[in-house]
Amino acid sequence: MELVGKSTTEILQWAVQQFGDRVALACSFGAEDMVLIDMLSRLGKFKAFTLDTGRLHEETYQLMAKATRRYPQMELHIMFPDRAAVEQMVKEKGINLFYDSVENRKTCCYVRKIEPLSRALEGLDAWMTGVRADQTPHRATMEVVENDVIPISKRPIVKINPLLHWSYEQVWEYIRANQVPYNVLHDRGFPSIGCAPCTRAIEPGEDLRAGRWWWEQDNKECGLHVTAQGDLVRTNVT
Ligand code: SF4
Repeated sequence: MELVGKSTTEILQWAVQQFGDRVALACSFGAEDMVLIDMLSRLGKFKAFTLDTGRLHEETYQLMAKATRRYPQMELHIMFPDRAAVEQMVKEKGINLFYDSVENRKTCCYVRKIEPLSRALEGLDAWMTGVRADQTPHRATMEVVENDVIPISKRPIVKINPLLHWSYEQVWEYIRANQVPYNVLHDRGFPSIGCAPCTRAIEPGEDLRAGRWWWEQDNKECGLHVTAQGDLVRTNVT
């Protein structure tokens, strides 16, 4: 199927028809993910997975429970980090290691996000994400359908970004028009919602990713969306 000029729904239909139960939505229950959950639920049953890092906001868990009830079409897999790896990391570097250095922050993201993401992707041929081009300079270089690799094994996998060319305003127009549930933290100034210690509300006019790792100067990616370029963060935590 030629995807150029196709609507978001047509792209999702293509993804489900092409990959069947070998495609899943990677979902952190942000505004974009809720749009995709709502759209996919209109097409029938679908798979989704989320990474429970153990450090999420309570509001995110509340939305997770609400979305699971509202969208029975969604088969949600909650991925947890490897217990032994978390325990070793915390023992060696402390419970809030991410504030101490960029290296520590990347180590934490590797243990709590990248390794569980890799496990989730191993059972798939394609994954869908809610990334948008205007979120970061790196995301502006991405394509709606692109070749990716699984972070740890480096096995090729197709990555589908159906909302790549949506604006932030379009996302919220859809949410309001369709009464899609969303994380209440958005109403408190959080455009981007990740782990509780690493995200904060932003001021009007600030960059939409400014609340992520606010104590760092320029890196607003955790490694989940940079694998195709081989820019994966490696750590010595096993
Ligand atoms: S966002 Fe923060 S708490 Fe979450 S995995 Fe990364 S460093 Fe750890």
